[in-house]
Amino acid sequence: MEQIPDAPWIREAERDGYPSADPVYCPVCGEECETIYADQGGTVFACNKCILEQDAWEWQEEEREASRPDWADGE
Ligand SMILES: [Zn+2]
Repeated sequence: MEQIPDAPWIREAERDGYPSADPVYCPVCGEECETIYADQGGTVFACNKCILEQDAWEWQEEEREASRPDWADGE
Protein backbone atom coordinates (compact mmCIF):
# COMPACT_ATOMS: atom_id res chain seq x y z
CA MET A 1 0.00 0.00 0.00
CA GLU A 2 1.33 3.37 -1.03
CA GLN A 3 2.05 5.88 1.68
CA ILE A 4 0.76 9.33 0.90
CA PRO A 5 3.01 11.86 2.60
CA ASP A 6 1.26 14.22 4.96
CA ALA A 7 1.28 17.91 4.29
CA PRO A 8 4.12 19.68 6.15
CA TRP A 9 1.72 21.42 8.52
CA ILE A 10 0.16 18.08 9.47
CA ARG A 11 3.58 16.61 10.27
CA GLU A 12 4.36 19.73 12.27
CA ALA A 13 1.06 19.50 14.09
CA GLU A 14 1.71 15.87 14.97
CA ARG A 15 5.17 16.73 16.22
CA ASP A 16 4.28 19.87 18.17
CA GLY A 17 0.68 19.10 18.95
CA TYR A 18 -0.66 22.16 17.15
CA PRO A 19 -0.50 23.76 13.70
CA SER A 20 2.52 25.89 12.86
CA ALA A 21 0.69 29.16 13.40
CA ASP A 22 0.91 30.20 17.05
CA PRO A 23 -2.44 30.34 18.75
CA VAL A 24 -3.62 33.82 19.60
CA TYR A 25 -5.43 34.40 22.87
CA CYS A 26 -7.94 37.15 23.29
CA PRO A 27 -6.77 39.79 25.80
CA VAL A 28 -10.39 40.28 26.87
CA CYS A 29 -11.75 36.76 27.43
CA GLY A 30 -8.58 34.69 27.19
CA GLU A 31 -10.03 32.32 24.62
CA GLU A 32 -8.00 31.15 21.67
CA CYS A 33 -9.35 33.16 18.75
CA GLU A 34 -8.96 33.72 15.04
CA THR A 35 -10.23 37.28 14.79
CA ILE A 36 -9.79 40.18 17.16
CA TYR A 37 -11.84 43.33 17.11
CA ALA A 38 -10.28 46.70 17.87
CA ASP A 39 -11.68 50.20 17.95
CA GLN A 40 -10.40 53.09 15.83
CA GLY A 41 -7.66 53.72 18.39
CA GLY A 42 -6.37 50.17 18.04
CA THR A 43 -7.62 49.02 21.43
CA VAL A 44 -8.75 45.41 21.28
CA PHE A 45 -12.15 45.05 22.88
CA ALA A 46 -13.31 41.63 21.69
CA CYS A 47 -12.53 38.56 19.64
CA ASN A 48 -14.61 36.21 17.54
CA LYS A 49 -15.23 34.15 20.69
CA CYS A 50 -16.56 36.88 22.96
CA ILE A 51 -18.16 39.35 20.59
CA LEU A 52 -21.88 39.29 20.06
CA GLU A 53 -22.78 39.78 16.45
CA GLN A 54 -26.33 40.83 15.83
CA ASP A 55 -28.38 42.11 12.98
CA ALA A 56 -28.44 45.92 13.36
CA TRP A 57 -32.16 46.19 12.62
CA GLU A 58 -33.02 43.47 15.13
CA TRP A 59 -30.88 45.24 17.71
CA GLN A 60 -32.60 48.57 17.08
CA GLU A 61 -35.96 46.90 17.41
CA GLU A 62 -34.96 45.37 20.76
CA GLU A 63 -33.59 48.69 21.99
CA ARG A 64 -36.86 50.42 21.14
CA GLU A 65 -38.75 47.66 22.90
CA ALA A 66 -36.56 48.01 26.01
CA SER A 67 -36.70 51.81 26.16
CA ARG A 68 -40.46 51.95 25.81
CA PRO A 69 -42.06 52.82 29.15
CA ASP A 70 -44.33 50.22 30.71
CA TRP A 71 -47.38 52.45 30.47
CA ALA A 72 -46.99 52.53 26.70
CA ASP A 73 -47.85 48.83 26.51
CA GLY A 74 -51.36 47.82 25.68
CA GLU A 75 -53.73 50.72 25.02
ZN1 LIG B 1 -12.44 37.27 23.43
